[in-house]
Amino acid sequence: MASGTTNPWHMALEQFNNAVQYLELDPGIIDFIRLPKRELTVNFPVKMDDGSVNVYTGYRVHHNTVRGPTKGGIRYHQDVTLDEVRALAMWMTWKCSLVNIPYGGAKGGIIVDPRLLSMSELENMTRRFTSEISLFIGPDSDIPAPDVGTNPQTMAWLMDTYSMHAGYTVNAVVTGKPVPIGGSLGRADATGVGVMFAARQAMQKLGMPLEGSRVVVQGFGNVGSVSARSMHEIGSRVTAVSDVYGGIYNEDGLDIPALMEHVRKSGKVTDYPKGEEISNADLLTIPCDVLIPAALENQIHQDNVGRIDTKLIVEGANGPTTPEADRMLRERGIVAVPDILANAGGVTVSYFEWVQGLQSFFWSEKEIFERLERIMTTAFEDCWSMAERKNVDMRTAASILAIARVAEATELRGIYP
Ligand code: GLU
Repeated sequence: MASGTTNPWHMALEQFNNAVQYLELDPGIIDFIRLPKRELTVNFPVKMDDGSVNVYTGYRVHHNTVRGPTKGGIRYHQDVTLDEVRALAMWMTWKCSLVNIPYGGAKGGIIVDPRLLSMSELENMTRRFTSEISLFIGPDSDIPAPDVGTNPQTMAWLMDTYSMHAGYTVNAVVTGKPVPIGGSLGRADATGVGVMFAARQAMQKLGMPLEGSRVVVQGFGNVGSVSARSMHEIGSRVTAVSDVYGGIYNEDGLDIPALMEHVRKSGKVTDYPKGEEISNADLLTIPCDVLIPAALENQIHQDNVGRIDTKLIVEGANGPTTPEADRMLRERGIVAVPDILANAGGVTVSYFEWVQGLQSFFWSEKEIFERLERIMTTAFEDCWSMAERKNVDMRTAASILAIARVAEATELRGIYP
């Protein structure tokens, strides 16, 4: 049933229900793996630079713990809701299962626009939030990481706060840390490079040339900018990119390294001189060969899907396409590589960081990218053949594989008591 929903949790449930019908599972097991295991809401005070006190609301949701400790980022954004965090946690469960790393899914978030806070306010808020969720997180239980609005510095504060409570350094409590304090080489670029691996493999399957293919990227944060740079490096022509302020378009292709340098200085893409300005809404409907939404949820929906003019969508963001839009893309023959596959490079290298931290033994960047490529290539091939076998789209195929692994682990462990 088409619901036309834009609530991310309802979207995630609809995708789950759609995939689970292909699996022969006990209805009780289906209910168990559908629902979040536990959810924490915290309201906490933060001392601001002017001496006043602001109260913030944050969440940490553990969706499923059957395959291992839970894993997932922390988002700072003004539109965070509990339903969004639930959906993101569920998608983490499927993502970790799909690339076969031994984690369940979690997610956290604070309702805040981090651009409005000073560095010291961000630090105070992060340390207090860490303290508030400290019962939920730990190197053996739940390992946070960056997401929208957070970065390696945020993870450093989190690790330091948790370690101060423990009385010793616990660097495996969080991933996406700066390299000098136990971060992994390659983690910062991992999601964007993984998006490129997925795009390249899909283009090869569809017989599309890498050289000269037109690529449009929505979002120019950690995921969007590295995806754009990686596509540029394999010879594709990135014709448009955007950030929260708007987009920039040049049919001849943008010089992505130069644009990244520009953004480092000016903070936005829109005033880059070698291209024309376009709105974020128009960017999505520019004719192109590969469209990479790498911002937030609900970007491709029933009102704009008819105007999307591309052959391939590779989801750098989590949840950028509504289930309704998904169906219409399939009818129009547009292939979409789903988020849980396309952006799994981030959590995969997070897993490498966690393993390295637990062993205090660090790998070379070459080893990291080789292992990442192997994992992503295998997951892509598995999804592609499942899609062919069941005659379903890539999202359904990816979800079938991921849910089946969680269900198998649940049945093997059995129901306690
Ligand atoms: N926030 C990222 C994601 O959505 C990374 C999570 C992680 O590394 O744990 O996949």
